[in-house]
Amino acid sequence: MRLGYGSSVHNVVREQGWEPETYGPGWVSSLAAEAFLDDLPGFKETQRFLRACRWIGQHADRYAGLALVDPLDQTPFRWNPVQRADVLLRLDHWDVTLIKPGRYAGGRCPLCASNRSDRRGDRRACRNAECRHTWTVKFTHNDANVAGDYPTDPVKLHNMAAPCVVHMLDALFAAHVIVELRRRGVKNIVSIHDCWYIPETADALAVLQEALKAAGEPWLRALEDVYKLLLHYLKPSPDPEWWDLLVDAHRLWEDRVKRQRWPVFSAAVS
Ligand SMILES: [Zn+2]
Repeated sequence: MRLGYGSSVHNVVREQGWEPETYGPGWVSSLAAEAFLDDLPGFKETQRFLRACRWIGQHADRYAGLALVDPLDQTPFRWNPVQRADVLLRLDHWDVTLIKPGRYAGGRCPLCASNRSDRRGDRRACRNAECRHTWTVKFTHNDANVAGDYPTDPVKLHNMAAPCVVHMLDALFAAHVIVELRRRGVKNIVSIHDCWYIPETADALAVLQEALKAAGEPWLRALEDVYKLLLHYLKPSPDPEWWDLLVDAHRLWEDRVKRQRWPVFSAAVS
């Protein structure tokens, strides 16, 4: 799961090993985990999609971020995680931490040259167990442009693009389920991610299943704008690795809509 958010298999396996009570023996080798994942149907495609979205995030306008259009109601919005960091302000007996636009210097440990360190305030600590050197790092303030926008965090933006597209599509589906429930007279609905709580009536489950089935068509149709947007953002670099993937996916989508093969999602009762 964390791979979609930018983690490497190696890091996930390593960090899982730190919590044996939660994860049990887990994976001991990242190579074995990679081989297992490569064998899963569709995994390679999701990795290509991930790399495509990373490219989009990396090449977004530094200040504007990624401009998108909500596929439900066509409201324009954008993803622009501002690059910011905590700056400690000492006021008499109070320590106040401000989150300010800007960044602390990174770089290697001045003693052992390791590129792995943790920052706390304006101090960095080397992660090399044999070194553990600490040093002070400078905070550089970022200024806003004429539009009043501050520079975005390029790492955050490139890691968030793929999962945010997927979350957006989940939210789109949830919204269509709510519309369909409302059409069927359900007025009290709690929607949390991909769960819907509705009052327990005799036909509640049947109504929910009908709504889920009916939401498939408007959801699938609304994907057109999402494909267009992704292709628009990928256009400056039509790398075959992801360009072909998206073009093929769009073609399959068109064919599916033409044949009216609406997806039917099911829900488990709990
Ligand atoms: Zn060091």
